[in-house]
Amino acid sequence: MQQCPCNPDHLYTQCCYPLHIGEKKAQDPLELMKSRYSAYAMKLPIYIIETTHPKNPAYEEDHLNWELSLDKTCSETLFLKLEILEHTHNENEGYVTFKAYMEKLGQDISFQERSRFIFENSNWYYLDGRVKPFKR
Ligand SMILES: [Zn+2]
Repeated sequence: MQQCPCNPDHLYTQCCYPLHIGEKKAQDPLELMKSRYSAYAMKLPIYIIETTHPKNPAYEEDHLNWELSLDKTCSETLFLKLEILEHTHNENEGYVTFKAYMEKLGQDISFQERSRFIFENSNWYYLDGRVKPFKR
């Protein structure tokens, strides 16, 4: 059985998978954040695109092109570990602070981020984040 990239104590099929296949919606920013991390790790660019708010600075109108570049990023990156530091939300906005342990082409590209999420049209979306790198 496969572990979920967001938490090795959980099985993928019982954690982020139902969100990835659209069987379940993220109930809060934390769930969405974890499922987005897992989507990167499982190389699911469409899920990442669909859960990114159009006002996100990295949002690309050309979804096909965006999908291809996400696909490349996912392939070149090892998603080693996710650590949640803090999370909070109300009914229309929320924040998650996390550390993502990652490696790209042999380089440590781990970072800490405080992500902002908003609730719109009955869905949570990733709006933006404040990123700072850290060394493992
Ligand atoms: Zn998960």
